[in-house]
Formats: sequence, structure tokens, C-alpha cells
Amino acid sequence: MPKMGVRGMDSTGEIYICATPIGNLEDITLRALKTLRQVDLIACEDTRRTRRLLDRFNIHTRTISYHEHNERSRVKQLVQLAKQGKRIAVVSDAGTPGIADPGFTLVRAAVAEGIKVSVLPGPSALVAALSVSGLPTDRFTFYGFLPRDRLERRRVLTELGSRPETLIVYEAPHRLRDTAHDLADLMAERTVIVARELTKHHEGVLRTTAVALPEKVAELERKGSLKGEFTLVVEGGATAVNSRASLDIRRHVQYFEDLGLDRKQAMKAVAKERGMSKRDIYKALQEISK
Ligand code: SAM
Repeated sequence: MPKMGVRGMDSTGEIYICATPIGNLEDITLRALKTLRQVDLIACEDTRRTRRLLDRFNIHTRTISYHEHNERSRVKQLVQLAKQGKRIAVVSDAGTPGIADPGFTLVRAAVAEGIKVSVLPGPSALVAALSVSGLPTDRFTFYGFLPRDRLERRRVLTELGSRPETLIVYEAPHRLRDTAHDLADLMAERTVIVARELTKHHEGVLRTTAVALPEKVAELERKGSLKGEFTLVVEGGATAVNSRASLDIRRHVQYFEDLGLDRKQAMKAVAKERGMSKRDIYKALQEISK
């Protein structure tokens, strides 16, 4: 529990970085509820959206907006209020403030002013998607949102794709198609997890390969499911090849077929990863089935 004095008796203010649900409101922590109830002020990315959360839990604390468009002036004001002894909770629309959301500049300014900053940990889409992905979690790169400009996005993806660890990016539904094509071009054989609407009613976790991703995205679009919030988790460069090199060829081909590739595509992917020709893979499969 955050240590708080009696309201109005505190001489030192404090800032609480408070995670909120990424969908299911039951994911709010008991500590977050208590803190949101007790602080003097809640700085919200969108006051109307946070009000819905507060109403659900009968919390009547005063709110103030804090978003990317008023960030500079608001940071000064919030730091000033904390210096005057106010306890301020910071929330974003969903998940953890500061993670692809406002929060960082306030924390930096508060730290510089010697104001205590505490964290109330909780949901974040990046951790949620990674933990359910089935890809290695010991090391990962989180990139937030990829650049909108196609050339810049491909440059960034090429750089990220050369890294050995799991990659996590946030993506807007209307950009998913373009990103899917870039991933197919640049990281063809990698496993990709599309985590959609996690913790919500239409939650879905789709596992595929980068090369099959454009078709999967087109399928989502046909079904009217290309909406909501998406996080992509992409297999890292090292794990991709290393973990499959120990499989026998038949299982290696099966691995790609299970991810949605047809036999020909799967053999091509296996040939590339094993440094063999497609012909040799074909022959090996024939030998095994004899
Ligand atoms: N601060 C948030 C966090 O800690 O996850 C992220 C905020 S960022 C502006 C919003 C992006 O997070 C969405 O565009 C989407 O990529 C991802 N996201 C948020 N909620 C999600 C969910 N329920 N399922 C999948 N991805 C989600």
C-alpha cells in the first residue's frame, strides 16, 4: 500500500504512476483502486475515458488532462502541485503510463525536482502479448509504434530484424496490412503472433509466419475483424534458426505447415534455414516417407 498521511496533512507530495486495464476492467489492482480513491488529483490522458473507469468503481477524485498536446505546460503544473504537497496519480487510457503513452516527461521532471515517484504496476499490452506468445521471453526488444513512412518503417524493421531477441511492436489496425507485407518481405520465415483485443470480448491470438501474415490479415479483414487493438510479437533472428536446426527435416517442414504455409513454401523456408537446396529437402522427405 502507498503510505499516505491524512488528507491535507501531508507536506510532501508524491506522484503515482498507475497502470489501468488494457480491456477487462477487472484487471485493475486493489492498490490502484485505493490510490485512485485517496489521491488529490488524477492526471489522465483522456478525462472522459478515465471517468468511465472511475465511475465503475465509485471513485470521485478530481481529474485533470495530461496528454501529448498539453504535455509541456501540464508537466510544469503537476510538478508544482506535487511540490505544494499534492498527491497525484497518473493514468493513461489503458495499460501502463509512459509505455507508448504520456508519462515519461513527468517522471523525469519530478525526479529532477526531488519529488517521490512510486509505481503501481499492472497491465501493459506488451507484457501481456509477450507472455502469451510462446516465443522466448528472456530477452526482447519493444519498439512501440513503427514509423508511418514506408521506407523508414522498412529501414527500422531491417535493423530490428537483425537482432537475435523477440520483437514486440504496437500496431494500429489500418496499418496492419502494410506492416504485414513488410514483415513478409523482410522476415519471411519468422513466427509472428498477432495479439488482438487482449482481455476483451473479441480477444484473439493468431500464430503464423511472416510470409503468411498478409493472407491472415486479409482474412481478418474479410471477416470484419481488422479492428480493435493489435500487438505483434515477432520471433528473434537467433531463436528462429537455432531452435529449429535440431528438428528432423520432416518436423521442420511440419512446423511451417502448422503455421499456415503450404508444402512448397514450407520446404523453401526449411531449405533456407538449413542452408540446403529445395531439391535436397524434397529428397530427404521422400526418403523418410519410404
Ligand atoms: N500504455 C499502454 C500499455 O502499457 O500497453 C499502451 C498504449 S499505446 C497508445 C496503445 C497500443 O497498445 C494499441 O494501439 C495496441 O497496439 C496496444 N494495445 C493496447 N491494448 C491492447 C489489447 N487489449 N490487446 C492488444 N494490444 C493492445
